[in-house]
Amino acid sequence: MVDLQTQYQRIKQDIDAGIQEVIESAAFIKGPKVAEFQAHLEAYTGAKHVIPVGNGTDALQIALMGLGLKPGDEVITPTFTFIATAEVVALLGLTPVVVDVDWNTMNIDVEAVRRAITPKTKAIVPVHLFGQCAPMDEIMKIAEEHHLFVVEDACQAIGAQYTFPDGTTKQAGTIGHIGCTSFFPSKNLGCYGDGGAIFTDDDALADRMRAIANHGCHIRYHHDEVGVNSRLDSIQAAILDAKLPHLNEYIAARRKAADYYDKAFANNSKLLIPGRQAHSTHVFHQYTLRVVGANRDELRSQLAERGIPAMIYYPVPLHQQKAYLDPRYKDGDFPVAERLAECVLSLPMHTELDEEQLAYITSNTLDLIG
Ligand SMILES: *Cc1c(COP(=O)(O)O)cnc(C)c1O
Repeated sequence: MVDLQTQYQRIKQDIDAGIQEVIESAAFIKGPKVAEFQAHLEAYTGAKHVIPVGNGTDALQIALMGLGLKPGDEVITPTFTFIATAEVVALLGLTPVVVDVDWNTMNIDVEAVRRAITPKTKAIVPVHLFGQCAPMDEIMKIAEEHHLFVVEDACQAIGAQYTFPDGTTKQAGTIGHIGCTSFFPSKNLGCYGDGGAIFTDDDALADRMRAIANHGCHIRYHHDEVGVNSRLDSIQAAILDAKLPHLNEYIAARRKAADYYDKAFANNSKLLIPGRQAHSTHVFHQYTLRVVGANRDELRSQLAERGIPAMIYYPVPLHQQKAYLDPRYKDGDFPVAERLAECVLSLPMHTELDEEQLAYITSNTLDLIG
């Protein structure tokens, strides 16, 4: 599904030098490399504040803590996503309110968000699923009308560009009040372990979230509120700082592979190519087909027999997950998400796919689907 070895070999010198520098300086925690990467990521994204943290899940949790939400407050999130999005909501005693997604883009359904708003709603957490932004213009409008916070889950979409109706553009993660991303190794900007970051333009929120990520203190050993311990370590920051200058090339390589897939499958009625969200570029964290009128699981195992990995992101929507079963929801309530869970299939997607591999993957997929 990914090829991190080849990608490493291309920039081995820079990565190794960065790691070596950290080891020799012994500044493993909050060292200068973290500050350097933070500044470079602020410049890249245009976010006023980047707060490096331990991983993307922590980023989401610290964001919700930073907003000062209270138990019982409702947070709207799509039911078709990675579990982390709802997990942190539940962990904080907030109430996840899940909504359906759009069949074509697989992103949150804006009309469903509107319908889900109650007097208890405090925040919306749109997920930029598979690498393209949710309809942020409309989401920000809804949020403004109802005085809600927006926390973008941009864990899969770093580098995606959103264009507003007035022509201005912003990067994924810098549109809502807060944005969160992950540097999990297979993410578009991945480190060699765990890592994450929070984005915001709000000085007070940034100050508060920085303190929360550091045991709730502004001054060492003086704890103003209950916090957590969540840091990006210096070795990971050095790796990320070496990779960040290549992020745009990485995105271009993913797009090229996606274009190849799109072209190959465009005329096949059983394989629906990913729909493009209006106003957003797509950075293709995943290339996810919908298999219709054919057996998805059979196709997957036949591909595996031919040496082609394919994954199901995600097989079970949130409202059907055992830990999240809720009497408010029953099977059938979110028909699009439930249908997607049954038909999605993600093909290999990374920066090192060459024409030969793409030709092998697409010709075998077409051969098997008939
Ligand atoms: C990867 C991911 C996360 C969590 O990131 P971690 O760094 O693994 O904690 C959250 N949400 C989405 C949509 C993700 O893809």
